[in-house]
Amino acid sequence: QERTLAIIKPDAIRHLGEIISAVYENGFNIARMRMVKLSQNEVMYFYSEHKTKDFFPRLCEFMTSGPLVAMELVGPDAVNRWRSMIGPTDTQRAREQGSHLLRARFGTDGTRNALHGSDSASSAQREISFFFGSKYGV
Ligand code: ATP
Repeated sequence: QERTLAIIKPDAIRHLGEIISAVYENGFNIARMRMVKLSQNEVMYFYSEHKTKDFFPRLCEFMTSGPLVAMELVGPDAVNRWRSMIGPTDTQRAREQGSHLLRARFGTDGTRNALHGSDSASSAQREISFFFGSKYGV
C-alpha cells in the first residue's frame, strides 16, 4: 500500500462526485480529504519548484481562484497509478491519449488541468503534510 496526494483543482470542483467515484472504481481508498481555499502565499509555497517559470503567475491565479479538494489516496502503487489515471499535464495532450483520462474528461487547457498528483513517494509525503500536517499545513 502506498500513499499519494491528489488535488481536485478549482476548475474541476463541480465534477467532485464523478472524480470521487473514479477514485473508488480504480481501487483507491481515501484516507483523508479536505476542501480549502489557498492563499497566494500558500500556493507559492506549494509550487515553489516552479517559481521561476513563465506560467507561475497564471498557475497562482488559477489555484487561488476558488476552493480545491485535497485527498490522501491509499492503494497499491498509488503514486504512479494516480498519475497514469489523470494523464499528461496538458489537457489537449491528455485528450489525444484517451478520453478516459481524468484530465481529458475534466480539464480545460495547459494550466487549468483539473487534477494534481504527487510525482514521487517523497513529494507525496511532503504534500500530504502540507495539507494534513500541523507544522506547515494550511
Ligand atoms: P501537477 O503538479 O499539478 O500534478 P504536473 O506534475 O503534471 O502537474 P508540473 O510540471 O508540476 O505538472 O506543473 C504544475 C502545474 O503547473 C500543472 O499541473 C499546470 O497546472 C501548470 N503548468 C505546468 N506547465 C505549464 C505550462 N507549460 N503552461 C501553463 N501551465 C503549466
